[in-house]
Amino acid sequence: MDKKNIDWSNLGFGYIKTDKRYVANYTNGAWDEGALIDDDTINMSECACVLQYAQTVFEGLKAYTTEKGETVVFRPDLNAERLANSARRMEMPVFPEEKFIDAVEQVVSANKAYVPPYGTGATLYLRPFMFGINPVIGVKPADDFQFRIFATPVGPYFKGGAKPITIKVCDLDRAAPHGTGYIKAGLNYAMSLHAIVTAHKEGFDENMYLDSATRTKVEETGGANFLFITKDNKVVTPKSDSILPSITRRSLMVVAKDYLGLEVEEREVYFDEVKDFAECGLCGTAAVISPVGKINDHGKEICFPSGMEKMGPVTQKLYDTLTGIQMGRIEAPKGWIKVID
Ligand SMILES: *Cc1c(COP(=O)(O)O)cnc(C)c1O
Repeated sequence: MDKKNIDWSNLGFGYIKTDKRYVANYTNGAWDEGALIDDDTINMSECACVLQYAQTVFEGLKAYTTEKGETVVFRPDLNAERLANSARRMEMPVFPEEKFIDAVEQVVSANKAYVPPYGTGATLYLRPFMFGINPVIGVKPADDFQFRIFATPVGPYFKGGAKPITIKVCDLDRAAPHGTGYIKAGLNYAMSLHAIVTAHKEGFDENMYLDSATRTKVEETGGANFLFITKDNKVVTPKSDSILPSITRRSLMVVAKDYLGLEVEEREVYFDEVKDFAECGLCGTAAVISPVGKINDHGKEICFPSGMEKMGPVTQKLYDTLTGIQMGRIEAPKGWIKVID
């Protein structure tokens, strides 16, 4: 398969239209067959439920080329499961999990020329999403829905090495107890836009959200979960019902325990104890791990001993091992890597 003539290593994280996308429609209480199509636009009523009441959920995963030259995706079964959970919470029909995986395969296969070659650091980002499409004016769930997956090539997240970032403790909330923080709903991102624009204006890279009930516990950032490393090399991640269960974070916890022999803990993490950790990182599909060098709490700085120049040593090992597994350099746990023909 000839690859597209793209400068892979210098790609950013922006939308580039690719050849094929998958579309399935839910009408009269059932999903249709679904198919690959060319049209990247969507025609819908001005009163579509998604436009009025934000009834939409999404996923994000990547396809890439391994060292052996195979095209693969990482744990798509977990994206299928998480989208199903998101749909249930939003009164949307579940898109069958086997069909989700099949649709991912179809989209990657049809856009193989856009899957970046091994070693470029670039990947083909996949965006599955679902939304209420029929007109709804009195507040209620839609009756008809559309599920789509498009693909867009994205560049290496870290150009020239992963530099630690600086984050701030945010005074706004992105999720509430018993709210929707644990699902991947567009509305959670809408909630975080003002906070992230403000953080950037103030010179910070990201926001740290605290639990909205007591403002004493660490939750997550707008789009990534926290991992902390204690001074005695334990890997700690916050436990909360209002954070999004990151597939990257869950995978890193397995890597920490089974590959690196580290002790792992998923538990409530009080903001007061953050100053005592040795390393801090943010995990998500896009970057795998972004190291955090500094946290600004209303002018008071917490500086991690790992500093602002490079990732901490344990974070680095976690990063190298998981990316090694993803790229086929290290043997993966059973079922983690799905090869696309
Ligand atoms: C998507 C997302 C993450 C990261 O999840 P991954 O499955 O690792 O990509 C973390 N937090 C939020 C709020 C998210 O939406």
